[in-house]
Amino acid sequence: MSDMLNFDNTQTAFINKTDNELKKAKFLFGMLGYAQLTRFAKPMLNFAFKYRLPIQTVLKKTIFSQFCGGENLMECKEQIDELYLNGEVMSILDYSVEGFENEPSFDNTLDVLLKICEFSEFQKQIPFLVFKPTGIGRLEVFRKVSENVTLSNSEAEEWDRIKERFETICRTVSETESLKIMVDAEESWSHAAVDKLTEEMMVKYNKRRTVVFTTIQLYLCNKYDYLKKLKDLGEKSQIKIGVKLVRGAYMEKERDRAFTNGYESPVCKDKATTDQNFENGSNYVLENLDVFDFFLGTHNELSCKLLAQKMMDSNIDNNDSRIWFGQLFGMSDNISFNMAQSGYNVVKYVPFGPIKDVMPYLIRRAEENSSVGSQSSREIQLLKKELQRRNKTKKAELV
Ligand SMILES: Cc1cc2nc3c(=O)[nH]c(=O)nc-3n(C[C@H](O)[C@H](O)[C@H](O)COP(=O)(O)OP(=O)(O)OC[C@H]3O[C@@H](n4cnc5c(N)ncnc54)[C@H](O)[C@@H]3O)c2cc1C
Repeated sequence: MSDMLNFDNTQTAFINKTDNELKKAKFLFGMLGYAQLTRFAKPMLNFAFKYRLPIQTVLKKTIFSQFCGGENLMECKEQIDELYLNGEVMSILDYSVEGFENEPSFDNTLDVLLKICEFSEFQKQIPFLVFKPTGIGRLEVFRKVSENVTLSNSEAEEWDRIKERFETICRTVSETESLKIMVDAEESWSHAAVDKLTEEMMVKYNKRRTVVFTTIQLYLCNKYDYLKKLKDLGEKSQIKIGVKLVRGAYMEKERDRAFTNGYESPVCKDKATTDQNFENGSNYVLENLDVFDFFLGTHNELSCKLLAQKMMDSNIDNNDSRIWFGQLFGMSDNISFNMAQSGYNVVKYVPFGPIKDVMPYLIRRAEENSSVGSQSSREIQLLKKELQRRNKTKKAELV
């Protein structure tokens, strides 16, 4: 295994953090470790927002500032510049307002995306845009199209508007010099419709360069085969296929729906099987870089090391422009900063939006960090190590 990457190097990992920021992060991850607290957070926050309790300032200084870049683009700019100037870590601005299932909200998401495109176009620290399909259309419509259910007249009109928004985003990004667009993956019952649209966009816009990236969730057993299908599409249409590989974030929802509707869950039977599927997918994409551009989205240190090792074995440069590594803002800086320092292309998803509207996103981050116990404890361990290192250095300087 490659030992060229040292994810325990906390000096590099936290180069852009002050002592106070480290202490705050340590406190926050400590709190997230209490699953009970996270469970109660959701109803408590809903109550506070409903009765307009003054909690926004506290939230903004704590969980929001840990996991979000800001409430608007200008607030994010500071964070993005810091990531890049201190560690050459790049950013993807992720408008993380979720759950408003109506046409004005879908139009607003499109407007915001077009603004992000304009904002990012000439900033080399922002190579990608990203969106969730359910940010521009209702999940139920994606489901019906995926399952070939006949749409009512009004649903057919909705579907037309979804296709228009999808196309507008991809076309606008394709007209820039080098920006790329990532389509996030969500519930599996939306996939057939989303995949078809994304494939159409790739055929249209990935001729000259790789503009459109799809996302593959490898906790779904059948997705390795989909990679092969995409490779065929790339070869047949003479285009590059952009893929982001992730394990997948909707496991409980997938299993609950399968159980309720009496079908077999599409999610791999256990974590080890997901890990194997993820590794197989990663190897397959790397072995076919003549067709694929590759984005690995993970906080798993071993997965990053395995890919780095495989790149080295295949004589692929660390900074090969076809390969990207991605983590979420506020998490796994030890991966992001150490990889960037070794020359890899590293990007952080930087979520943003009005505090109240990004609460569903923040609650998911809190749940993820409390349920995947090891993530929080790994963060705390690294933060402690860096604080101790800095204390020692200060003492040595005094002597
Ligand atoms: C940059 C970036 C972009 C992302 N974009 C998306 C996206 O578009 N869509 C999306 O769904 N997710 C996305 N994610 C989240 C991702 O899918 C994972 O949920 C998250 O990163 C945790 O997985 P991991 O590889 O980092 O770490 P790990 O801790 O190694 O893996 C945890 C993951 O393993 C899987 N798993 C855990 N337990 C089991 C089990 N018992 N059986 C089967 N599988 C299990 C689950 O997928 C779980 O999330 C993104 C993550 C990053 C970093």
